[in-house]
Amino acid sequence: MTKQAQVMVVTPHPDDAEFGAAGTVARWTGEGKEIIYVVCTNGDKGSSDPEMKPEELARIREQEQLAAAKLLGVREVIFLRHPDQTLEDTPEFRKELVRLIRMYRPETVVTSDPYRRYIWHRDHRIASQVVLDAIFPYARDIHSYPELLEEGLQPHKVKEILLWASEDPNYRSDITDTFDIKIAALHCHKSQMGNSRTPSLEERLRERCQMMAEGEDCELAEAFHREEIWR
Ligand SMILES: [Zn+2]
Repeated sequence: MTKQAQVMVVTPHPDDAEFGAAGTVARWTGEGKEIIYVVCTNGDKGSSDPEMKPEELARIREQEQLAAAKLLGVREVIFLRHPDQTLEDTPEFRKELVRLIRMYRPETVVTSDPYRRYIWHRDHRIASQVVLDAIFPYARDIHSYPELLEEGLQPHKVKEILLWASEDPNYRSDITDTFDIKIAALHCHKSQMGNSRTPSLEERLRERCQMMAEGEDCELAEAFHREEIWR
């Protein structure tokens, strides 16, 4: 019933995790960590092409996400397939995440920061808020979702959360050696990248990752807000 993975990455759309955490994911898999991805929506509204059919886009984006995950050494990708732009904070969505947390029993969960002010994609805000709620208290407490316990899914305590795109970063992860894999993984998302190879997504991201590494003992970093929940 349980299939232990050390890290669970929960991404609102296909491609968000690559922007936020792919360098760190690649470093961790290189160190032998078992990592799984949970993709909340199918990204079927992520195109400005009026000819693009949403169901076709969803299919394409799943393949793109699988290709990126494979490149990063991610063990498994779970698609929840909610339609893009429809995530809501519901008991059902929370239960889906509680079920996965109890099943995979990760030490670390990585997702987007829900608390960006003002303009922030609603799916990002909702997905990560629901993930945090799922971690604490719902995955931890034996009496939450008793039907999950009946399925044999015991409570689980996630030890640490890392939130990308945070306005309050307190943790830098060295991605100097994995920056190139991050870029390659982002380029797997062809439907989202357009012709952005020029003037280069790579240059913009390199600059951003250099800024994130300022004051650190590395050249390139991804920044997160980190919370330790249980020591
Ligand atoms: Zn997104």
